[in-house]
This record gives sequence, C-alpha cells and structure tokens, in this order.
Amino acid sequence: MEKSCTFCQIIGGEKPTEFLYQDESLVVFKDIRPHAPVHLLIVPKRHIRSLNDLKDEDKEIVAEMILRAQKIAKEQKISDSGYKILFNVERGGGQVIFHLHMHLLGGW
Ligand code: AMP
Ligand code: ZN
Repeated sequence: MEKSCTFCQIIGGEKPTEFLYQDESLVVFKDIRPHAPVHLLIVPKRHIRSLNDLKDEDKEIVAEMILRAQKIAKEQKISDSGYKILFNVERGGGQVIFHLHMHLLGGW
C-alpha cells in the first residue's frame, strides 16, 4: 500500500468506487474517463509500479488478470464483438497511474 497511490486508495476503500469484481488478489472497476462503451480496469491489490517491475514469481497474478478479463468480457457481453486488453508502461507508454493495471476496452 502506497499512501499517495490513487489505486491503493481505491483498493483500501479510501476513495469510494464500485467494484464490478474483487477477490483476494485483484479488483475490477470502471475507468473514470472511458475510451470505449465498456472500459474497465483490472488491478492487482498489491502495489506494483508497472509491467517493468514484474518478476518471474508474479506469473500467477498476470495470468489471473488475463483470465479475469476474459470472464468479465463474457459477463459484459462484449466477448463475441471483441475487445482489447492493454497495458500502458511508464510515461512514454502513456501510463499515468503508477500502479499496475490492465485496461479492458470493448463494446463498439
Ligand atoms: P494509464 O494511462 O494506463 O495509467 O491509465 C490510468 C487510467 O486510470 C486512466 O484511463 C484514468 O482515466 C483512470 N483513472 C484515474 N483515476 C481514476 C479513478 N479514481 N477511478 C477510476 N479510474 C481512474
Ligand atoms: Zn498502488
């Protein structure tokens, strides 16, 4: 938990946010500035700065994030029409929140 991190604050309940899904390792909530009809963020509870900081022992959380995206896409009924999953990595890659997250975009 990083005090100044927006996503740690959301996960810690300090910023009221509706979770579409949560378990012991990750949460899913709507992006506040959607770039698609469905734009969700899949966020590990543990503070990891970016994809650059993932280690071999983090394989499980990465797999969980991707499989959760697949399940949520089905629930949101965007599986058949199609969707994108996206990681922005560091400033040059468009990352503005430095807590690892995956975008799920679809519903076009
Ligand atoms: P990134 O550019 O990959 O770091 O994406 C960060 C995303 O977080 C952006 O798409 C923002 O719109 C979104 N965002 C920032 N603050 C919040 C918030 N409080 N609740 C939901 N989404 C947020
Ligand atoms: Zn954080």
